[in-house]
Amino acid sequence: MNQVQQEYPRLVLIVDDQEINRDAVEIALEMNRLGDKYICIFAENGKEALELINEHISELSMVILDLMMPVMNGFEVLEIMSRDRQYRHIPVIVMTADDTAELKALELGADDFITKASDASDIICARVHRIIELYERKQIMTDTESDPITGLLSRNYFFVHANRMFHSKQDTPMDAVVVNIEQFHTINAVNGRGFGDRVLRELGTEIQAILSEKDGFMGIASRFDADRFAIFCLSQEDYAPILDRLQKKVDSISPTVSIHIRMGVKKFQQGMEPIILFDQARAACSLVRGNYQAPLMVYNEEMRRKEEFNQRLLNDLNTALEEKQFLVYYQPKFDIQCNPPRLKSAEALVRWKHPEFGLVSPGDFVPLFEGNGLISVVDNFVWGEAARQIAKWRDRYDFTLPVSVNLSRADIFDPTIVDRLIHLVEDNGLSFQDIKVEVTESAYADDAQKMLDLIRKLREVGFEVEMDDFGSGYSSLNMLSSMPIDVLKMDMKFVRNIEENETDMRLVNVVLDIARYLNLRVVAEGVEKEGQLKLLKDAGCDLVQGYFFSRPLPGDEFEKLIENEVRLNRKD
Ligand code: C2E
Ligand code: MG
Ligand code: MG
Repeated sequence: MNQVQQEYPRLVLIVDDQEINRDAVEIALEMNRLGDKYICIFAENGKEALELINEHISELSMVILDLMMPVMNGFEVLEIMSRDRQYRHIPVIVMTADDTAELKALELGADDFITKASDASDIICARVHRIIELYERKQIMTDTESDPITGLLSRNYFFVHANRMFHSKQDTPMDAVVVNIEQFHTINAVNGRGFGDRVLRELGTEIQAILSEKDGFMGIASRFDADRFAIFCLSQEDYAPILDRLQKKVDSISPTVSIHIRMGVKKFQQGMEPIILFDQARAACSLVRGNYQAPLMVYNEEMRRKEEFNQRLLNDLNTALEEKQFLVYYQPKFDIQCNPPRLKSAEALVRWKHPEFGLVSPGDFVPLFEGNGLISVVDNFVWGEAARQIAKWRDRYDFTLPVSVNLSRADIFDPTIVDRLIHLVEDNGLSFQDIKVEVTESAYADDAQKMLDLIRKLREVGFEVEMDDFGSGYSSLNMLSSMPIDVLKMDMKFVRNIEENETDMRLVNVVLDIARYLNLRVVAEGVEKEGQLKLLKDAGCDLVQGYFFSRPLPGDEFEKLIENEVRLNRKD
């Protein structure tokens, strides 16, 4: 069981209308021979006391309460505290000169007594020590307040303690550390919950062992949820040895199961509350998810800037929509089996022309807005622009260029999506072949059934569906055969090294074979060089999108490509 060490000062509220009595208790606590340290705050009556209790509710370790006071007496304070659960973790010792008041005070929830004037300071200290210790132990031992598997503090109680330490030791540097087990759900699923629990227990025990050592590595620890551990400890120069030791511990559990842990650290920052420190430690920890080579990350200035940047983007979204700061660029897709290659379609790609940050890439804001559903507002705008652009080109050149739009993984949960696309087609006098829909492969991992339903509906209406970023994530052949798609967009990483690396080229051939087998056309993305183009053409790839042909362009610049295609069409 985790021990709460009395290594940091406890905050004690002394309530008495007589200054001399308040001073007497403070002096007694200061002189105590048990080695305990206390920080005392004072109130002159019950009303002031309640104000201070509320202000310090999470840090307060004890109230020493006089009973007879003006304005509001001690009984009334006790009564209020006994009625409200939020005060139940704060013990109260009553000070009185009147023996007859004892019973009433006890009935109202007082924990102990000090008899004014007659109790020696040692007795006062012993009582305060005992009651605080009892309360803290009781709290830890309550099921909800300690973790039954590891014996470490529960999340809530951990923060009660961390806050106390923070407030009472403002100038002692304490770091926040988060430890996480990679793929813990898989470890559980494959080896059984019993094994999973054992991993948690061993890790928890090792963390506690480190904290209990006498070399100044003082602190408290908790298991937050599932496989996430939190440690609040005296600031350390280097956390690598600690991570190393914890990794060795989990390595020793089983010779056959490989377990990897990662660690995020937020170093002490003057005045920053524990809850914020831990948010940042967690952010650091999630950045090294899956990074088995470098599993330790200390929250740094760059991460802070990134978080601030993200926050700015979130705040600025509405203004950006109002002020039309979003722009739609178009990147061509060429049929490379023709000679010369012919323009077949384009992809609409969003850009944010931010008044302060300049052109912001979708890589910066799409994942951010996907996290909170805001992306559908942006997507809706992009689709509208793309539809209007197709109609504009058709009217100007008497030539219809199909444009594909990206559907975000958040969009697949939106039941209005198909109707919105249908309206768009109808409102702009287009046909369903003019707009194509790109669905990212990674959405499959979120909800395969929803994705399947959506793709079916889109195709029933007559839209073509392209599977974007194929091969970038969790896709499986099983997924491919179950998804009724038309086109497979091969992720850029397949193409990048095909000139230099034979294995990569072989992989491209495998993808092309599978696509042929499933009757799917293939778009190779990220083609930048002539050599890559030639290899893809020889391998039988149909369509190519990439800087070799063109970067994504604003609508008016893209017109040159259309004009060229219209010229070639006339020649045919
Ligand atoms: P994506 O849909 O796979 O789009 C292709 C990305 O590859 C584009 O990046 C494009 O500029 C880039 N690219 C094209 N050819 C080359 C090349 O030859 N070399 C290299 N290195 N890159 C190339 P972009 O525009 O930054 O978009 C990134 C991602 O953001 C897109 O990947 C897509 O997932 C997302 N996105 C873009 N626009 C939208 C949108 O309107 N809605 C949604 N939901 N997502 C969008
Ligand atoms: Mg795309
Ligand atoms: Mg793509």
